Amino acid sequence: PETAPADTRVTPMMAQYVEIKTANPDSLLFYRMGDFYELFFEDAEIASRALGITLTKRGKHLGEDIPMCGVPVHAADDYLQKLIALGHRVAVCEQMEDPAEAKKRGSKSVVRRDVIRLVTPGTLTEERLLDSGANNFLCGLTRLRGGSLTGDSVYGLAWIDMSTGSFQVSESDDQRLAADLAQISPRELILPDNLLQENEIRHLAQQSGAALSPVPRAFFDSSTATDRLAHYFGVKTLDGFGTFSRPELSAAAGILAYIEKTQLGERPPLDPPVREAGAGRMLIDPATRANLELTRTLGGEKQGSLLATIDRTVTGGGSRLLASRLAGPLLNVGEINRRHDAVEFFLDNEIMREGLRQTLKGAPDMARALSRIALQRGGPRDILSIALGLEAAKRVLDQTSASGGAIPAEIEAARSSLEKAPHALGDELSRAIKEDPPLLKRDGGFIASGYDANLDELRSLRDESRKVIAKLQADYAEELGLRSLKIKHNNVLGWFIETPSAQAEKLTADPGRFIHRQTMAGAMRFTTTELADLESKIASAGERSQAIEFEIFDRLAAAIVASGDAIKAAAYGLSILDVSAALAKLAQEDGYVRPLVDDSRAFEIKAARHPVVEQALKASGGQSFVANDADLGPETQGGTGRIWLITGPNMAGKSTFLRQNALIAVLAQMGAFVPAASAHIGVVDRLFSRVGAADDLARGRSTFMVEMVETAAILNQAGDRSLVILDEIGRGTATFDGLSIAWATIEHLHEVNKSRALFATHYHELTALSQKLDRLSNATVLVKEWKGDVVFLHEIVPGAADRSYGIQVAKLAGLPASVVERSKAVLSQLEEQDRRSPAEALIDELPLFAAFTQPKAQAGATKPQGPSAVEEALDGIDPDDLTPREALDALYKLKAAR
Ligand code: ADP
Repeated sequence: PETAPADTRVTPMMAQYVEIKTANPDSLLFYRMGDFYELFFEDAEIASRALGITLTKRGKHLGEDIPMCGVPVHAADDYLQKLIALGHRVAVCEQMEDPAEAKKRGSKSVVRRDVIRLVTPGTLTEERLLDSGANNFLCGLTRLRGGSLTGDSVYGLAWIDMSTGSFQVSESDDQRLAADLAQISPRELILPDNLLQENEIRHLAQQSGAALSPVPRAFFDSSTATDRLAHYFGVKTLDGFGTFSRPELSAAAGILAYIEKTQLGERPPLDPPVREAGAGRMLIDPATRANLELTRTLGGEKQGSLLATIDRTVTGGGSRLLASRLAGPLLNVGEINRRHDAVEFFLDNEIMREGLRQTLKGAPDMARALSRIALQRGGPRDILSIALGLEAAKRVLDQTSASGGAIPAEIEAARSSLEKAPHALGDELSRAIKEDPPLLKRDGGFIASGYDANLDELRSLRDESRKVIAKLQADYAEELGLRSLKIKHNNVLGWFIETPSAQAEKLTADPGRFIHRQTMAGAMRFTTTELADLESKIASAGERSQAIEFEIFDRLAAAIVASGDAIKAAAYGLSILDVSAALAKLAQEDGYVRPLVDDSRAFEIKAARHPVVEQALKASGGQSFVANDADLGPETQGGTGRIWLITGPNMAGKSTFLRQNALIAVLAQMGAFVPAASAHIGVVDRLFSRVGAADDLARGRSTFMVEMVETAAILNQAGDRSLVILDEIGRGTATFDGLSIAWATIEHLHEVNKSRALFATHYHELTALSQKLDRLSNATVLVKEWKGDVVFLHEIVPGAADRSYGIQVAKLAGLPASVVERSKAVLSQLEEQDRRSPAEALIDELPLFAAFTQPKAQAGATKPQGPSAVEEALDGIDPDDLTPREALDALYKLKAAR
């Protein structure tokens, strides 16, 4: 009904509402009316359901009731948070003038209103709306078609955390796009609307968990991208920022266009874009990331993830930095070692570390306070945060100046950014702001006394006046002999004299002096010229002191913004120190060691533990974790990594072992120490896992299908620097199908991918493969039989499991005794018929799959036998993207390729 032409029954206010709503169709409109934000029509229905608030009606529009609900302005943040968390966007529409102004224009006139801000999940800055330990990324995604017909696409990614100003860009491709998005883990993803319509992209976008914001393609126009960026940063050329590719520029421009649209002219202070070489990070696809529970458990909780287990940081900035390092482990040995050096330094200097951590605990989140101030959303507490943050920076500098010995480069760099912080400004802010200021600037009273002489004078005048009022009250009471006479204040009357009605005649008797103001139930109120004089003095002192406070606030805020870069750098320095000290603390408390990371193909880990399981066992006070070795490195220098095939009963600890090795690789390359006695790891470029299956019902895939899709991805992509962990491949289908698939998968991994790999299986038949595949070793988990029960020792040893103990495990799980007995009988019958294992026979009868024996190209380049050149070319064509002329060209090329 909103868009119907206005008829005579449309009130002026509704007309205004409809106009504003029409301009913001994708957002819930918070329409300011006095002390409330009101929502109407469908918005009201959505919000009342989402927020659990009452839906009412307000008047009629085009003859129909108008559904309405409202939230009080003072509590609006909470409601906003809820709506944003549910993936809604909100347009905040304010009154732009005093209602009295509108009245002056005529009785039909409506208060001028305007949308002052679009609140979207990726553009939040309010402390209460943000998780202090997590980045809040707004990410732009765009695609540029490659030149060739079979042309692979190139993607541009740009992501911004508006609450801190960080701005990164990178390129991606079809193979790694999902992994890159999973690493960024954006809260909101913006992309051209036509791109979102493609099935594959839509699936990826949905899988990323971000709120999706399709925008017109023009936002990402690459021909004007450079200008848009230069304009935003007020520079003539981007050369000073480094070089960027066309997809990167296009994504960056798209995101800036979106920010300009949602912030309505307010420009958040952003760092210049930094090119994040996606290729410089360990590639971890979304399934692996989820299965390994790096930052969240499969259930979506933070608690129980690797991140929560290792996080000993004490600041919000430190916690965010730790999370982003964990999400993107490095490949460069030098950079990795630089981080390890810093951790080692704090491990060796415990007293320094603990002092530092103490200081950091009290250090506020400067980066986020700064962004709010620059966006004109800051309050006195944000200024105080900067003051305290800079104070902490100064103290940290003292605390980390080592008396003897060298300071590692990572820490030296952090220290130098702390040295360059605007300390004079910090001192001034500390002097200016009171210790416990109010949240809002408009409340006043946040400037400390002793900072501004004029302000002090006005304040003492105000305090003086209060004293004078007290004296006046005493005088009147004494003079009139009325002990119950009081001088009071309220917002309607201002200051007044109040006395019980029964005793009022002494005042009413002198109307020249005591001017009657109001009669209450049991009291009467008066004023006098003396009192009125005093009152106006107090009021003007109050107004003037508020004006001075606002002026000081604005001056300080401007000074902070002017030093924004240095403040941000200092905040980052504090975060680096926090992370390094926290990882050292973790290493000390939980016995982690420094791993040796180099460019070899080694993977030799001694007495390793699973960080999360170990901590859980410790917390429960039960048995302690059994440490295990792994060695997947080549036997000879420069050789190829090995595969371990691990058999053993359920519940023995196979999955735990697989995962702990993957987690240790992640920890080592993110720059942390690792839970082991020693570790030597040749850089892992890609980490693949196929563990624990979850149905992907949203896409109509069964568990088995998901498993096969993931396995296919691994076999097509893993290379000789990758680490692969595979758990129970082929479980979801008939025994022989599953066994055959697992068999062929191992052969492929061994012959083609040549990755370091751990393969856990319950198919004992597979252990026979070690006779054929020279780099395959069998390992098993020790169990003990004790009075017919099985006892798990969780110890990994060379060799193959002799039996699977499935029935014993089932018994432990509480299967009825009759079923257990019956299973035993069935089993012994089956074993009788199957004396000669069919797999043993296979080894003799089945040579390696012929495809593997031919010389092979690089593993990563291997593609399954598949489409012809023409079919591939066809796949690369998107008819919607072609002009008629390009379509004709494409036809010619297709014909030629046949
Ligand atoms: P599997 O994959 O062989 O079925 P899991 O790896 O799931 O077995 O392990 C089952 C349970 O055994 C885990 O939940 C853990 O509590 C315990 N466990 C596994 N490995 C160890 C270990 N090395 N030390 C102590 N307990 C372990």
